[in-house]
Amino acid sequence: MIRTSSPLVPRLNSLFDMSAESEALPATSPVLLPVALDQTYDYLARPGVDLAPGAFILVPFGPQTRIGVVWDRVVGFSDKPVNVKKLKMVVERIDVPPLPQLSMRFAEWIAKYTLSPLGMVLRMMMGAQAAFEPQKPRTGVRAAEGAHLPPRMTPARLKAMETAGDGLIRAKSALAAEAGVSSGVVDGLVQAGLLVEVLIPERSYRAPNPDFAATTFGEHQIPAVETLRAAVDGRNFSVTLLDGVTGSGKTEVYFEAVARTLAQGRQVVIMLPEIALTSQFMDRFTRRFGAAPVEWHSALSGPERGRIWRAAATGGARVVVGARSALFLPYENLGLIIVDEEHDPGFKQDDRVHYQARDMAVVRGNLGKIPVILASATPSIESHVNARTAKYRHIVLPGRFSGVEMPEVSAIDLRRHPPDRGRWLSPPLVQAMVEARGRGQQSLLYLNRRGYAPLTLCNKCGHRFECPQCTAWLVEHRFRKRLNCHHCGFMLPIPEKCPKCAEPDCMVACGPGIERIAEEVAERFPDARLALLSSDLIPGLIEMREMIHRIEKGEIDIIIGTQIVAKGHNFPDLNLVGIVDGDLGLGQADPRAAERSFQLMHQVTGRAGRALAKGRGFVQTHMPEHPVMQAIISGDRDAFIESEIRQRQLGMLPPYGRLAALIVTAREKDMAERYAREIARRAPAAERIEVLGPAEAPIFVVRGRFRWRLLVKAPRELDIQGYLRAWLAEMPEIKGDLRLSVDVDPYSFM
Ligand code: ADP
Ligand code: ZN
Repeated sequence: MIRTSSPLVPRLNSLFDMSAESEALPATSPVLLPVALDQTYDYLARPGVDLAPGAFILVPFGPQTRIGVVWDRVVGFSDKPVNVKKLKMVVERIDVPPLPQLSMRFAEWIAKYTLSPLGMVLRMMMGAQAAFEPQKPRTGVRAAEGAHLPPRMTPARLKAMETAGDGLIRAKSALAAEAGVSSGVVDGLVQAGLLVEVLIPERSYRAPNPDFAATTFGEHQIPAVETLRAAVDGRNFSVTLLDGVTGSGKTEVYFEAVARTLAQGRQVVIMLPEIALTSQFMDRFTRRFGAAPVEWHSALSGPERGRIWRAAATGGARVVVGARSALFLPYENLGLIIVDEEHDPGFKQDDRVHYQARDMAVVRGNLGKIPVILASATPSIESHVNARTAKYRHIVLPGRFSGVEMPEVSAIDLRRHPPDRGRWLSPPLVQAMVEARGRGQQSLLYLNRRGYAPLTLCNKCGHRFECPQCTAWLVEHRFRKRLNCHHCGFMLPIPEKCPKCAEPDCMVACGPGIERIAEEVAERFPDARLALLSSDLIPGLIEMREMIHRIEKGEIDIIIGTQIVAKGHNFPDLNLVGIVDGDLGLGQADPRAAERSFQLMHQVTGRAGRALAKGRGFVQTHMPEHPVMQAIISGDRDAFIESEIRQRQLGMLPPYGRLAALIVTAREKDMAERYAREIARRAPAAERIEVLGPAEAPIFVVRGRFRWRLLVKAPRELDIQGYLRAWLAEMPEIKGDLRLSVDVDPYSFM
């Protein structure tokens, strides 16, 4: 739901203006709550409770009490005078560091830009419930000093005392588990005075040391290192685009900026897409700085998130590495932001508050007057344009540090070299895999499609298996023996007969998913060790990291994966990369489709031959003459960028024009359509702003909700938010289960 945000008006001051009585009025504070509202509420101060701006406090809100923040100004406008008698009183202040003023300004900026209620942005910033809960002091045990073990000890007691012999403090349960004894044994030892109970200190994070291991830079890297150091030393806002092929040393180079910032005593945040898969990154960081960075991602436990939130606010977390939400931690003294793989579409969040974290990182840098580094082997067109117009500094690292050349990429024209019937790998690709195997090298096959087959049908009546709640085919997942909808999660065990014509065993799979590729590879290479990397086949972070580790160690011969294999890994034995379907993703209605295909293919093929020998890449395609394919094969990145920039310019597409999407959904088809048409009718007329639609969304139904889309196009220099705000103010009331969401700078057009 959208509420128009209102000008920030210092309401209390104007209402109770400096008049003589004002001194008699009780003190009030504007409080922002983490809910979908765009205003602060006034609360009466409780005598003796310090309500400095930023304080987290407990307040009554409707029938509940909730945690809010004392804001440093009133947000939202109301012309009704405040009746002080009716105001409720703050319950208490919560013992947690205050929200920094910079975070408040940042939240206001995001709310205004994304047209989200300010309270929802605050909610993102409070994304660690446990930070606000009372810190229960935890007690543990350790061996009593100077205790002499009595002569007759049971074996269990002996074991526990041996474990505790290292003098460390452990929770009772942890000691029992480690020693393999019951908790009764531990209790008994406490009673006997052999173990003592002590408070467990709150976990602290080891500080990375900027001088732990110095790097010697090559002559091509030195100018980049110097530029970045100067940016940090300048203690001012700047954006640097650090551009260079995979393996050129971008990470190594930006570590110097991290070191410089640490030496200033300031904090660093490094944002990575797919933080779950970055154990290699963590190891490298530790080798360079002698301590691991603080990791922030969704797989952490609640209490751990709480600890990190606090550590960001107190400065105890020096370097945080995380996914996009790491940007919203309440850093006490942030000095540098790095966005690695800045082109990655994973930085766009598409629920609740729709924001592009890379862009917000630049905003945060500007507000905090600190440098921002954007790193990528395939920078986004937006960043290229900003570099050309000198908004960003552009540093290019030439070639790979190892000197190993980038892989030679060739297209395999599937019209000339079709795979055998029912197979998906063309003869030239298979031949190359055989040769790589002969040399003891790894191969990787990439297909961005989970499951066994994207479409399943009955070979007798032609019945197609479709999701009952979405406009989507069900995808067969053969390993898990079911049909799955990739939009809503609906699933069906694979039926024994056709639900329509009752023919038994009639299901045929159409097209390949990665499970089907794995099946073909297993048949062709029966003694090869395969790894299948797909988010739905690997249960969690730990298993995924284990698998990556096995690949690094050379315990795997052939890797078959979806886009999770494209990111950040360095597999030393990998020499051959095959893209099974290079046409996937080309020719959509999405203005960034070509760019994204180029990036993905470049990144996947860039995995080959990083360490020792020049690798090879093959792209199977039906259209080798397509410009994206030509750019990949020729390696002529600049020509591709040039042509993309021209396309964007001609079409007034980002970054030359601005886009916003309005998405209307409802369970009832007519209701969604009527509302979408009505709002289109009310679109304010404005010169040079175009409103397209409403149109049925390409995925028309998701989870039983019908979806209509409108697209607003405006020239870059126009205030598209202002336009949208004026429009939203005129919209008919949202009734029933209608939903309207606004997506400024959309990345998804589905
Ligand atoms: P990128 O981030 O551009 O992919 P990396 O920083 O990961 O590149 O560097 C690629 C490889 O080269 C890594 O193994 C890295 O440790 C090594 N490397 C890069 N620069 C240096 C250097 N100056 N000294 C030693 N090793 C380096
Ligand atoms: Zn579905």
